[in-house]
Amino acid sequence: MKIKNLSQVLEGQPKYRYAQINKFLFQDYISDWDEASSLPKKLREELSVACPLEIKAEVFAAEGRQKTQRALVYLEDGESVETVLIRQKADKNKDTDYDKADDQADKREYRNTVCVSSQIGCPLGCTFCATGQLGFLRNLSSAEIVEQVVFWQRLLKAENVQEKVDNIVFMGMGEPFLNYPEFIKAVKFINNPETLNIGARRMSVSTAGLTEGIKKLAGEKLQINLAISLHAANDSLRQKLMPIAKKYPLVDIFKSVDDYIKKTGRRVMFEYLMIKGINDSQKDAENLALLMRKPLYLLNLIPYNDTGRFQTSSRETINDFKNILEKAGVSVTVRLSFGSDIAAACGQLHKNISASKGRR
Ligand code: SAH
Ligand code: SF4
Repeated sequence: MKIKNLSQVLEGQPKYRYAQINKFLFQDYISDWDEASSLPKKLREELSVACPLEIKAEVFAAEGRQKTQRALVYLEDGESVETVLIRQKADKNKDTDYDKADDQADKREYRNTVCVSSQIGCPLGCTFCATGQLGFLRNLSSAEIVEQVVFWQRLLKAENVQEKVDNIVFMGMGEPFLNYPEFIKAVKFINNPETLNIGARRMSVSTAGLTEGIKKLAGEKLQINLAISLHAANDSLRQKLMPIAKKYPLVDIFKSVDDYIKKTGRRVMFEYLMIKGINDSQKDAENLALLMRKPLYLLNLIPYNDTGRFQTSSRETINDFKNILEKAGVSVTVRLSFGSDIAAACGQLHKNISASKGRR
């Protein structure tokens, strides 16, 4: 989709054209200007040449998970980026979302969550993460981030399932806070009632703990959910797993998070991968409990998705770990289906990227 020439084509057109076109593109999800039937024919022809709407992509079903689909979206420069659609049967009794408030989504049979990438690759090199092992290619523009959402909206429309994208998680490839301006531009665009109109409360951003980003986000008047990738309860283990932890010690992260909570009154989710023999002992759980026992802190335990380097903790270990935290008064969830689907996305990214590199 290439709409940067839009203003040029619309020169001399009445002002309302913009609103009309926004509705066609981001609410009706047209993929061909011919579908924009209320536009004059001549304008449609001009738009077809200057602003092609096609989004080139390949869709894969995630292994073993019928309702999760992954796609590689091809960008203008020939690079590609991965995005995931997770379709979950809505279970009204079970919270899958930590802020679902007054969601329209609750009324539908399925909830659709799109996981978007913010960068191609990632420079932070976390040892457990396939994207991190891939290295870094470039930042995505806000348009390229938005395009991932539009792609899935169009697919849902084509399947005629009467469903839309309900939630968006910035948990695909890359560190959103290293691409802050484009990330926040994308959030505002997706949130805009005249375009995609998805509530900020239904968006979540995950960061490896970049305190500058946490501070900036606290200053935005947006109700987007914040998640912090913690993965260890002490700095020395965290530094082994996530090299960037050397720059951002836990004490600084918790200070920024507490300031964020003071300023926004919003809950914060901490993500903790369960990696066998690395961070899943009883002692780890006890240390983690000491850090987590604060109001508005939520802990999400995520079984590590095998990327070849470590092993996943057993179900039993995860349950014991969870029990220790619960007994200590921590709000803790294990997001088995949702979490592992997201993780599956993260853990499998590099396979396709290398494949796409091979094709060029
Ligand atoms: N860079 C950001 C957001 C993208 S990663 C961040 O690190 O938070 C999104 C989530 O996937 C993070 O919590 C990350 O730790 C997790 N993740 C990465 N590799 C994983 C794996 N192999 N298994 C499960 N989760 C993984
Ligand atoms: Fe980057 Fe997040 Fe992967 Fe770490 S976990 S390498 S920060 S994408």
